[in-house]
Amino acid sequence: MDPAEDSGFSTRSIHADEREAREGVNVGDVVSPIHLSSTYELDEVPTDTSLMDLDPGAGDFLYTRLGNPTRQLLEERMASLAGGTDGFAVSSGTAAVLTTVLATARPGDEIVAFDDLYGGSLKLLSALAEERLGMSVNFVDARETDNVAAAMSEQTALVLMETPTNPLMHLCDIEAIAELATEWGVPLAVDNTFASPVQQRPLELGADIVIHSTTKYLNGHSDGLGGVVVTDDPAITEEMRFLQRIALGNVMPPFDAYLVLRGIKTLESRVQRQASNAAALAAYLDDHDRVTSVYYPGLESHPQHELAARQMSGFGAMLSFELDGTPKQARTFLESLEVFALAVSLGGVESLIELPANMTHESIDPAIRRERGISDTFVRVSVGIEDLDDLLADFDRGFTTAFGG
Ligand SMILES: *Cc1c(COP(=O)(O)O)cnc(C)c1O
Repeated sequence: MDPAEDSGFSTRSIHADEREAREGVNVGDVVSPIHLSSTYELDEVPTDTSLMDLDPGAGDFLYTRLGNPTRQLLEERMASLAGGTDGFAVSSGTAAVLTTVLATARPGDEIVAFDDLYGGSLKLLSALAEERLGMSVNFVDARETDNVAAAMSEQTALVLMETPTNPLMHLCDIEAIAELATEWGVPLAVDNTFASPVQQRPLELGADIVIHSTTKYLNGHSDGLGGVVVTDDPAITEEMRFLQRIALGNVMPPFDAYLVLRGIKTLESRVQRQASNAAALAAYLDDHDRVTSVYYPGLESHPQHELAARQMSGFGAMLSFELDGTPKQARTFLESLEVFALAVSLGGVESLIELPANMTHESIDPAIRRERGISDTFVRVSVGIEDLDDLLADFDRGFTTAFGG
């Protein structure tokens, strides 16, 4: 019922035609609407507590932190694309990693992690999991599965991997590590942000949890922050529900969920175009005499090219390269580009370029950074969907400006 026409101004300003519009929500939209409501009007006082259930039935909504139709649609779509049963959309990729750690490990437990994880994840594991939560973290070079095997123990509660990594494009063998984790009876979580579900699906390779920063390829337009966790393990699902909806209150807002849903519709087309641009740029750089090395899993010279060909379908659109020049020439190269934007982050339709030593990896001790292979002339690129010729011409401009004709 809408309020009577002779209701007061305040009552009408809130209620006039509101219910009518709400109930007529199915007017044939070809995209589902954004449900921004934080609370839901009930038909009657509930006589059982099923609405407070962490896993309400379809269409049962009470309060948006517990469940929201827009967020739920994204979670279901992501579960489908990642090949899992349940998805959880949270406020950032970082929050997705945190939720994964808290859902699987307790104080006293050990986490075996790739030593080349995303910087924020490394920090989360050392400064939070180890220093504040009483977990211990065993960082290993997971390019060799034997190193992971050697790190496992009775205390291990989680194996946390990422592949390919940032910015060195290291890979780990998901299938082999999943077998190892199964032998020890612990879950394997894989941060799949770089490959996206278009080019790699860890759950199909035996992982139990997959993590995505939706900020990157899934949203794909550099205008929203978010994260998603997908699992096919019922016990982990229970923990995730409790953490996301109750303990952490860590949910993706409906408007952002809508943007990711919209982004996902073109995910495959974008990623394919981005990857084919990246492959062409990698070949160009590989041939250039001012470039000493190129890091791209699609190049046959990549030490793990064979593994990439086996476990990925495509080689992604992230690449790095080492310039043969001074740090000043590297800066001039980046600053002279007109199509590539000088910026951190990745996965959007626009091509981005950055100098890890001065930007994304600036906080790492310089000696350790160099030892790991990130010099002051090491450049990282997130390739977008622009016309390849324009990207190539931009690199030509950069080389000419920085190194002369
Ligand atoms: C960006 C990123 C994250 C963190 O995601 P945010 O949305 O920035 O919190 C985690 N892992 C990888 C691989 C990333 O690229």
